[in-house]
Amino acid sequence: MKQIIKTITEIGINKDTDLWLSGKIKLVNIISLVNFIFILSMISLDLFFNKTYNLSIILLIISFVMLIPYYLNYKKKYIASRVVFLLFAYISICSLAILFGKEFNFQYYLIPGVGMSLIFFRDEIGNKKWIFTFLGIPLWIFLEIWFVLYSPIISMEKYIEVITYFSTFLIFLTAILMFATFTHESDKHLNNISNMNKKLKKLANIDPLTKLFNRRFMDERINYFFNLSKNNNGFLAMCIFDIDFFKKVNDTYGHDAGDKVLQMVSKLAMENFRETDFVGRMGGEEFCIIFTYGNINSVKDAIERFRKIIENSILKYEKNEIKITASFGISYLTDNIKTQEELYKNADSALYEAKNTGRNKIVDLI
Ligand code: GH3
Ligand code: MG
Ligand code: MG
Repeated sequence: MKQIIKTITEIGINKDTDLWLSGKIKLVNIISLVNFIFILSMISLDLFFNKTYNLSIILLIISFVMLIPYYLNYKKKYIASRVVFLLFAYISICSLAILFGKEFNFQYYLIPGVGMSLIFFRDEIGNKKWIFTFLGIPLWIFLEIWFVLYSPIISMEKYIEVITYFSTFLIFLTAILMFATFTHESDKHLNNISNMNKKLKKLANIDPLTKLFNRRFMDERINYFFNLSKNNNGFLAMCIFDIDFFKKVNDTYGHDAGDKVLQMVSKLAMENFRETDFVGRMGGEEFCIIFTYGNINSVKDAIERFRKIIENSILKYEKNEIKITASFGISYLTDNIKTQEELYKNADSALYEAKNTGRNKIVDLI
């Protein structure tokens, strides 16, 4: 049912339709349909109670006229649709004004009309179509005076009754739907913006070359988990690793080959570690992993497995087979460690030791 209503009210809108435009189209569609149904039901009631067939025929015609904006939207003639729609709205306002003369508080009824015009043609102000809309008003006034004074088919009394109910209904319905639709549209805008923000945030956190987290994000994560683990006595380990003799790769095969090595190592890291382990590139060929679960042994096992994977991997680059290794320094959060800088420094010292004692190995500092 919801799907059917959606399909019917969103006629003329497709995926690429701009959000504001789709709001306008939907508003016109809904009011056109509601008017159509409302007038049709008035016809049935009238036929049932009063047996005034000539009035019913007029109403029947009007009900289908009310579908014109809907049809125009269906044909993707959006501006024409809105012009016709506004014309109807002004007509009902003017009808009230004419029929009730001094008793009628015309200014109140102008609010939805003027509001609607502003919103409907917000993007097209200065457009010629405005003029046509306003030209329609005197035309209608002329027709209406003529019709009411000389009509051969319905009584004045009956006519006034219909116009009163219908116009009042239409005006308030328009005001309410206008509010509802545009609130809904602005919600959609906000959602869009927040989705875009999420995407931007993601981009700001990712290193473009390796698609790993960047230093900014890692520092933020380290700070977060450091405080969390400190307060809850939770487990936290940090590993810094650095590719061995990476300068040689660049010098021998070129910078481009170096980049490919960085990408390969990053891909292997992403595959090897769990989602709860954050892997980031801290700059150059230096990487960092934060372990938020497990224990000393599980962390060492995971890193040892990773070290072997790197050692056994081969990068094919322009007929060359590039082999590399990496060195790892690990630190754990203990009571002695008071700041996150100390945690980092310990991992760095461990890495330094690994580099100085043969490379392609793991050193940890407890
Ligand atoms: P060690 O085993 O002591 O770590 O030796 P190393 O050669 O790996 O260390 P060093 O710090 O001397 O060299 C790092 C090199 O990494 C120097 C720099 O040109 C290169 N490098 C840094 N960032 C990038 C990058 O994004 N792409 C490439 N291809 N090379 C990079
Ligand atoms: Mg290095
Ligand atoms: Mg280095």
